[in-house]
Amino acid sequence: MSGSDRVWLKSMELGGRLGCHQMPERSFFLRGYQFPLCARCTGVLLSSSAACAVYWLYKIPLAAAVLMSLVMLLDWGIQRLGIRESTNPRRLISGLIGGYGFMRRKHSGKIYSLTTFSRYSTMLSCTSSGVL
Ligand SMILES: [Zn+2]
Repeated sequence: MSGSDRVWLKSMELGGRLGCHQMPERSFFLRGYQFPLCARCTGVLLSSSAACAVYWLYKIPLAAAVLMSLVMLLDWGIQRLGIRESTNPRRLISGLIGGYGFMRRKHSGKIYSLTTFSRYSTMLSCTSSGVL
């Protein structure tokens, strides 16, 4: 097992502990390695981190934050109801939008750790049921 393999396995372990279902068909791959988070969770983690970082510089209106959160819910709901299967680019984009809005709305300005992300993804049932 190479060093890259060991780093990847540890990353996957961390992604699993954060509550992501890590379904390969809903995840991106880089050089043969699956991302430790699914496409949607990758977007949520990136944008919620950005929301915390820029909160003191710029605060989006609360109504906009709510609408941004609904974008992710809408994409998830369309898929969940069997209307249309989402795609990884769509999951990433809706995760980016929704994660930013959720973090701005729910945790305004506080610096949260990955633990917060874990609670967030668990709350949205991003678990082994694969609903996200
Ligand atoms: Zn996930």
